[in-house]
Amino acid sequence: MGELAICRYCDTVHRRADVSVRATARCVRCGSPLYHGNADLSAMLAVALTATIAFVIANAFPLMTMSVNGRQTEATLWGAIVASYDQELPLVAAALTISLIVAPLIEIVLLLSVLVPLRAGARPLGFSWIMRAIHIMRPWRMVEVFLLGVVVAVVKLMGLASTVPGWGSFGVIVMTFALATLGSFDPVALWRRADEVRA
Ligand SMILES: [Zn+2]
Repeated sequence: MGELAICRYCDTVHRRADVSVRATARCVRCGSPLYHGNADLSAMLAVALTATIAFVIANAFPLMTMSVNGRQTEATLWGAIVASYDQELPLVAAALTISLIVAPLIEIVLLLSVLVPLRAGARPLGFSWIMRAIHIMRPWRMVEVFLLGVVVAVVKLMGLASTVPGWGSFGVIVMTFALATLGSFDPVALWRRADEVRA
C-alpha cells in the first residue's frame, strides 16, 4: 500500500512518491509544501549530534563578556535565568528555562533515542511513543524567538559597554540551526526504517 500525504492547508490527499534529496513535494491544488526529500538517516544523526554538542556549549560557556569601568562580567545562560528570577521576573526566567534548556534537551534526547538504534539497525524501544512525543514537543521549542532576543540584547549592550560575544552565543546559534534543520527532515524516513529493521 502506498503511503498518503495530506496537505495541511487544503486537505487534499496525495499518494506519496519519492522526491530527490533537497527537493520538496508540493500540493497539486494549492502548491503548499507537503514534505521534503530529506531523508538521510546518517545526515540526521550527524545534525542531532551537532545539536547535542552545541547544547552543551550553550550551557557551559558564557553568552557574552562585558567590561564596565574596567570590570569584566561574564553572562551565562544560567546566570541570565537566575538574574531574571532575582529581578522578580519569574515568567521570563521560566520562559528562558523551558525554551532554551528543557525543550531542546528533551527534543535532542528523544531524537537521539530513535536515531542511534535505527542507524545501528534496531527498532528503538517505544518507537511510536517517542515519535509522537517529538511531534508534541516541537511547538514548545521557541529558540528562534529567544535567539532574536539575545541578538537585540547584545546589540543594545554594545552601546553601553564593550561586549564580546562568547562561545555560549555561538552554541545557541548552532543549536538553533541544527534543530531547525532536524525539523525539516521527513519523519516518514524514520518510520520506514523502523519497519525495515523490524521485518
Ligand atoms: Zn493544498
